[in-house]
Amino acid sequence: MIVSFPNMGYSWPAFKTLIECMGVKVVLPDPTNREAVKIGVKYSPEFVCFPFKVTLGDFVSAIKKGADTLVMAIDCGPCRFGFYHAVQERILHDMGYKNIRVIPLDQADLLEFKWVKTLFDVTPTKNLFLYTKAVKAVQYFIKKTKYIEDISTAEGLIRCYERNKGDTTRVVKELLIKLDKTNKINELRKFKSVITNDFKKIDIDRSRDPLKVALSGEIHITLESHDNLDIRRKLGEMGVQLYQNLSVYDWVIHKFHLNFHRKWLEYLARPYMPMDIGGEAVWVIGEYIDRARSGFDGFIHAYPFTCMPEISARTILTNTLYKKYNLPIIFFSFDEHAAESGFRTRLEAFVDLIQGRRKQKRQKKEIKLEKKSKEPSYEVHGGSLYNSIFQFIQAG
Ligand code: SF4
Repeated sequence: MIVSFPNMGYSWPAFKTLIECMGVKVVLPDPTNREAVKIGVKYSPEFVCFPFKVTLGDFVSAIKKGADTLVMAIDCGPCRFGFYHAVQERILHDMGYKNIRVIPLDQADLLEFKWVKTLFDVTPTKNLFLYTKAVKAVQYFIKKTKYIEDISTAEGLIRCYERNKGDTTRVVKELLIKLDKTNKINELRKFKSVITNDFKKIDIDRSRDPLKVALSGEIHITLESHDNLDIRRKLGEMGVQLYQNLSVYDWVIHKFHLNFHRKWLEYLARPYMPMDIGGEAVWVIGEYIDRARSGFDGFIHAYPFTCMPEISARTILTNTLYKKYNLPIIFFSFDEHAAESGFRTRLEAFVDLIQGRRKQKRQKKEIKLEKKSKEPSYEVHGGSLYNSIFQFIQAG
């Protein structure tokens, strides 16, 4: 048995460890590329969500590298996500890959422990030791997803200060490879210092005063750089400090009912969207309010074309919340037709706009550098890695 799973940003070392700890061989699909998207688009229903098409393309790439068992996360809806694995398996069989299995990884409520069944399903030999392996697999998986979130946080903070373009991107790539190779618990425990030390080696220009922008939206699109036309790198290189709550770790902790930051965002969103309608809609609304109160310069909402929940969130953001909170916002809807040139122009125009707005505000002395809101807020950025990277930027 050879197992694979679709790409989703930097998450591959964590999912690879999860399966390998069960004693099963893993192959990774090629990083998402035009060819994979072309195949996904060709064989998918025309109006299905964009992530469905991309992940189908990733599956074909993995099958060509020898995978025979594919793992696809599912939820209980309420949007189309609940059907991905079943439809993709049928499509793959119709394409001629008759012996391929697509195993659902049920993440609707992780405390129901249905995901344990997936771990057992991908393991050919069943015995009592499987339970011990599953515990280790989950422990390593959670640790690695947390470190991946830390790498992503540091990347968003530092790239806008780098003197040599590309340094941050290189460090991120190297760290992901190091994380993949770190498979002993005592080394894994110390990995936070590896992340901090590697980022601190980047030559930075502390005199810059970057804009603070939050990126939010549908999780697959915001995490997968091929699908979002590498928006994180582009913004950083335009001098924007990027903040992103979304990560696999954030999602997993939420599904274990331990994500109090998400609960705070739900509380903020409740008057406008009282229930989960799928995707990240509720949390996007909550995050917009939270970022506006915290004095951010801009907000980016990225989602797949035809994504119902995110389009509903967009309507509320435009019609109600922008009027109330006045935090500049730009929307990007991505699909296979998204083109580099128009995208970059819109992004640059947005950055110019928020830069001008900040200047105006400062001239009018409407904001102070250390802004404190009177409204209650939830200090999400106070993690130890965030603090140490922040102190590194401030020092000097
Ligand atoms: S969140 Fe949006 S893109 Fe994802 S499955 Fe649901 S409708 Fe489709």
